[in-house]
Amino acid sequence: MGLFSKKPPCPICGGKISWFLPSKIEGEYICDTCYGKIDMDADKASQLTMQGFREYLAFYNQNQLLKDQFVISQRIDFGLWDTKIIFDHQNKLFCMSRSPDKTVFEAGQLKSFTIKEDSAPLFEGSAEGIRRYASTVPERAMAMAPLISQFMMSRQMARTLDRLDDGKANGTAPMQYFDVPEPFHTFNVELHFDHPYWTVIQCDMDGPQFDHTHPDVNDYLRSYQRSIEEIEQLVAAFRTVAFPDAPDQSIGPGTAQAVHATMIPPTDAIEEIKKYKVLMEDGVISQPEFEAKKRQLLGI
Ligand SMILES: [Zn+2]
Repeated sequence: MGLFSKKPPCPICGGKISWFLPSKIEGEYICDTCYGKIDMDADKASQLTMQGFREYLAFYNQNQLLKDQFVISQRIDFGLWDTKIIFDHQNKLFCMSRSPDKTVFEAGQLKSFTIKEDSAPLFEGSAEGIRRYASTVPERAMAMAPLISQFMMSRQMARTLDRLDDGKANGTAPMQYFDVPEPFHTFNVELHFDHPYWTVIQCDMDGPQFDHTHPDVNDYLRSYQRSIEEIEQLVAAFRTVAFPDAPDQSIGPGTAQAVHATMIPPTDAIEEIKKYKVLMEDGVISQPEFEAKKRQLLGI
């Protein structure tokens, strides 16, 4: 078979098959136009049969009606390659693209979503509720301040030494870069569907980074805050479109700390109690004396 040998027409539309790397389903050549309509989970696409493809095209044509009626009320950009997501608040639709040219999802098809900072949950949403977890990122970023001032001092020192001879930068000192891992790397967004062709869509949004030559906690926190605002917009849009009645739940540091203070005694109190328990077991103090000490240490 030569390069210009005739291929049979597309079995779906009768169109011409591309001469360059034509796509195949179950060994049959499919034209680019038909094949280009495939927009589904990668594992589903890889297992597509001709029969399955025909059924998908019926779904695709049905979905075209939603594309036609789509009115963009909100567009959110996020992701490494500038992923966009558009929402149609009126018709309760959304689509993972800059215009409704990919699968359009209906509100009821979104089962839930999660947004994490690396593996730590930040938001979890479903019809049951929209839960926001307190982030430890700002706290952890602030805890890096001593490390950063140490870096800046050592950098300053290197520059001073470099200029010592003649007051000019001689470039003898190696350039120092702040190379400490950030409190987290990415916001992981995961959408779970109840849909014939989609189970899950995952996308990432880069977390903020320290400047490698002039790291600054406040710069980091400002950039983190901007990302959080985008994430909040995304959550609000999912709420409007898919989960309008979902109650808000906040798993905040306030709640967590309050629980901590009332429920869990400080570790040193427990250590103390253990010591008194040994004293009681050794017969140095009586059980009532131990009990009294225990209550005192636990503040009960
Ligand atoms: Zn075709």
